[in-house]
Amino acid sequence: METFTDFNISNQLQYAMSDLGFEKPTPIQAQSFSVIMSGTDMVGIAQTGTGKTLAYMLPILQDLKFSKEINPRVLVLVPTRELVIQVVEEIEKFGKYASIRVKGVFGGTNINRQKEDVAQGSDIIVATPGRLYDLVVSRALQLKAIKKVVIDEVDVMLDLGFRFQLTNILELLPNKRQNIMFSATMTDDVNVFIHDFFIAPTTVSVAVSGTPLETIKQFAYSVPNFYTKANLLKYLLQNESDFKKVLVFVPNKKSADLLFDILDEFFGSEVAVIHSNKTQNYRIRSIENFNAEKTRILVTTDVMSRGLDLERISHVINFDVPYFPENYMHRIGRTGRAEQEGTSILLYTPNEENAKQAIEDLMGIKITEMQLPGEVEVSTQLTFEEQPQIIEINNPQNLEEAGPAFHEKKEKNKKENLGGSYNRTIKQKYKKPKTRGDKNFRKNKRGK
Ligand code: AMP
Repeated sequence: METFTDFNISNQLQYAMSDLGFEKPTPIQAQSFSVIMSGTDMVGIAQTGTGKTLAYMLPILQDLKFSKEINPRVLVLVPTRELVIQVVEEIEKFGKYASIRVKGVFGGTNINRQKEDVAQGSDIIVATPGRLYDLVVSRALQLKAIKKVVIDEVDVMLDLGFRFQLTNILELLPNKRQNIMFSATMTDDVNVFIHDFFIAPTTVSVAVSGTPLETIKQFAYSVPNFYTKANLLKYLLQNESDFKKVLVFVPNKKSADLLFDILDEFFGSEVAVIHSNKTQNYRIRSIENFNAEKTRILVTTDVMSRGLDLERISHVINFDVPYFPENYMHRIGRTGRAEQEGTSILLYTPNEENAKQAIEDLMGIKITEMQLPGEVEVSTQLTFEEQPQIIEINNPQNLEEAGPAFHEKKEKNKKENLGGSYNRTIKQKYKKPKTRGDKNFRKNKRGK
């Protein structure tokens, strides 16, 4: 295995690596370094947790000479504000001896402050596409000095509907530049995107999409319903010495709030929740507390967790079985990072058996089955969604005979019934983050 010394990187970068305790490059870092240094376009297929941020930043920092240029020379585009914050922090750590000026910009916060911030000059800008475009259009930021552009999590960006904004930005960049992109999965959309903007890119790939990281132990429990799952989870989480840092995935905000309330009653300040209805400040605080290990358990939806730097996760709990097996892969990829051991636990009801099977087919392995411990109470309480549908026997059969209100409802229902195409489901899942910021937080501040 190569070492960082084999890369011939500057002393400043070597010192930063040893400060961080990084002994050797991860596979994606080992493969990407020479490709990016050579200046060709690169497509990296790697999941979060593989060390991909350093994979592109190390060669970029090695190549970035000191300059007084106001305009940035490197642009990193990421899908969410959380990822902007995380990547900026990482770059600051990697480049701490190299006096790199790095700025992060994202929507949902005061644009004027960001305008002032970028006006002071930078070497690297990390941005979400929408806010970056606004800054460029308002002439607060110029992209004419950009030599390298990194687009991270392209699959998520395209799912979020950022293609148009990405295209606009790429068209504003100088023609002579290096394009680097990372994606966890290779989708048709990603393929088309590469074809449109990249010139003969070299593809670098670690772990074929669908291959679980070898450092993750996977277990599954068959459980009859939501409330029994909650009982099992409470039982498992009492084991504080094993369940040190636990990420619990739920399918939606409603389940997140419901489960949080149950766990909160039992574990109090040990547990926090994040989902897109929570304010940005609340989310940032929850993540910081979790990272600082002030809270042991974090309940989250898939969208919120993507791209976050959640180190040393001991367990990923899948409270539901994701319908798309790729989502399961993303979830469990939050543990077993950078070659540390991790555990994933999947809780599935009889209705979710098919989805579990699809995951096992994708991975080509069976998840180890566990017996529901005798101490766990089997609940008969059902959530609204789990209750059997009540058929209204008195409904008129012939709709033409029904009153006008019935017609109205029928139309309305039609509108809502959008079917279940993959794209729509994905779009709904990765809904654009709210751009309103944390009003309560500001109100409180002002009130002080
Ligand atoms: P990423 O995939 O970029 O989110 O990185 C996953 C985690 O691995 C981050 O916490 C990095 O700081 C860490 N990491 C990156 N490179 C290495 C390395 N060579 N050795 C150990 N840890 C690393």
